[in-house]
Amino acid sequence: VAAWQRCDRCRRVLGVEEFDGDGTQCRACLTTPVARPKVAKASPVRTRSTTPREPVPAGPRQPLLGIAGQGDLEVRERRARRRAQDALVEAHPEEFEQLLAAARQVEGLRA
Ligand SMILES: [Zn+2]
Repeated sequence: VAAWQRCDRCRRVLGVEEFDGDGTQCRACLTTPVARPKVAKASPVRTRSTTPREPVPAGPRQPLLGIAGQGDLEVRERRARRRAQDALVEAHPEEFEQLLAAARQVEGLRA
């Protein structure tokens, strides 16, 4: 009972016992690490040319959504602190004036 099958890789016609179940490649091919064709990786220059970069859309840029999220953590921390201080000054102007006057005195400035 001889059944034959052609290997998809080496194109040899071999007995089905050389194939793993319904595999289309013979055992020799499956166990041998034959380098698969790496055409794309072998020629990076050609790969680049075949996949052109998406053209940058012309026209106005997307408007920046405020300054949120810009800068590193330290910068954002300082900015948040400054913003809170400004809000605090606006919320309590009298207290701020008093504190500022005291601070100016410490610095030797005239109130
Ligand atoms: Zn084979």
